[in-house]
Amino acid sequence: MIDTVEIIAAGVNITIDTRHWINGQRVASPSQFEDVSPITGEVIALISQGGESEVNLAVDAAREAFPAWARTSPAERGAILHAIADLVEENNETLSQLETLDNGSLLRSHRRGVMPRVAHNLRFFADWAINELHHPDLETRGHLNKVSWDPAGVAALITPWNAPLMLATWKIAPALAAGDTVVLKPAEWSPLTASFFADLTKRAGLPDGVFNVVQGFGAEAGNALVSHPGINRISFTGSVPTAKLVAKAAAENLTPCSFELGGKSPTIIFDDADLDLAVTLAAEQFDNAGQICLSGTRLLVQENIAPAFIEAFTKKAGEIIQGDPRDEDTHIGPQIHARQFERIKGYVDRAKAAGADVVFGGAPNGDKSGLYFQPTLITDAKPGSEILTDEIFGPVLTLQTFATDDEALELANGTQFGLAAVVVTGSKDRAEKFTEHLVAGTIWVNCFYVRDLAAPFGGSRKSGVGREGGTWSFDFYADVKNTVYSPIGWKE
Ligand code: NAD
Repeated sequence: MIDTVEIIAAGVNITIDTRHWINGQRVASPSQFEDVSPITGEVIALISQGGESEVNLAVDAAREAFPAWARTSPAERGAILHAIADLVEENNETLSQLETLDNGSLLRSHRRGVMPRVAHNLRFFADWAINELHHPDLETRGHLNKVSWDPAGVAALITPWNAPLMLATWKIAPALAAGDTVVLKPAEWSPLTASFFADLTKRAGLPDGVFNVVQGFGAEAGNALVSHPGINRISFTGSVPTAKLVAKAAAENLTPCSFELGGKSPTIIFDDADLDLAVTLAAEQFDNAGQICLSGTRLLVQENIAPAFIEAFTKKAGEIIQGDPRDEDTHIGPQIHARQFERIKGYVDRAKAAGADVVFGGAPNGDKSGLYFQPTLITDAKPGSEILTDEIFGPVLTLQTFATDDEALELANGTQFGLAAVVVTGSKDRAEKFTEHLVAGTIWVNCFYVRDLAAPFGGSRKSGVGREGGTWSFDFYADVKNTVYSPIGWKE
């Protein structure tokens, strides 16, 4: 049984222990699963494959650690979270290399954007718990209502592969800052940074059992975790079909859930928009090879500017460099997994067969072996067809045109999802009127992907349940309590 792997990447030699992390120790399973790099197609690590027994151990450890952790002050918890953030910053290069090898996202964006953001997640929620959790006292006929956010217990965190450590720490940080203990089940396609992160928590002085990682598949480790009666919160980021399974399992124990799910978001481009800006924002929807839940993959373009837009966008798309995500010049790396690659190809092939037009892309990148699917733009898809309604989670955009603002709104809202929207217009007045009735958890006007951790984040309709960010995160991870003081009965 191999429990540690040495990963040699771009001159960086990383030794990482791929067993579970339970009660401050490494725990092995009888079987392991293969972790394959989407860049090379090679098996880069064997990972302990957890199931019910490992989940039971982890939840027991988290329950055991909870009372003492819950009694620490927000400042004490914050000091440890800041110490973990320091170690994340010190280990930026290692974490970036691991994440890129594991999920194929750009190394430069891990180094400069994602890992600094991981540290920021930890610092932000640590400080929010210390400084921002206040509610004005309420007065009721001379009685005083005092609101507090109390630790809730064990938080089960389930995360996807498209931004593994960034999304995990967006949950870990508020959960720990709230005084909860944690069991994390990372996605099986990108398990490495969670393993490495566990060591950092120990080095930063986090008490044993407060943070635990169980590796494994969703149907085994994931299902065992969300079905466990000993957990008090489930925060899940992933797809709608999996969320339904999680909701069913959670219902058995009435465990509160937060769901951050998929989308089919619109990018609405009005005829008064700055064309260069519109093209730039539309091209950004290919970022991370289209594997971003928030991507505005449905381009809705006002018909009178559609020809000019398509011409400029095609030129811009032609400049996109697809290749090894470790190269500085690369804009788009591979898809995460052969299954995902085939899924994307299937959607595009079926759209073509049904008569849609492929303006550019539309096939695997013939210059490369592996999981590289070309950035693709599809027009003239049949209304209601799957390419227009389903989340594809690849570098595939569709384009539809509209004549009036009302028509744009109908198209934009004509989806089962409601995660995000991008609106591009030169008129503030038009933006304000249009966004008023647009259904989405987050709307970006003339920008994309600007995220403030203090702001609410989540999806409407099938894109999610609940909001996280700032106090919204603590409303979920904590038990919000009201204590009512009478004006009478005091002896001092
Ligand atoms: P997925 O639903 O297949 O898996 C997500 C996680 O759930 C994985 O860790 C998986 O192992 C686990 N899982 C699978 N079956 C389970 C079960 N029965 N019980 C418990 N856990 C189980 O999603 P994915 O393919 O990893 O990620 C892509 C999806 O995530 C897309 O739909 C994307 O839009 C969504 N996503 C949403 C957000 C957001 O913030 N809204 C962010 C990133 C990704």
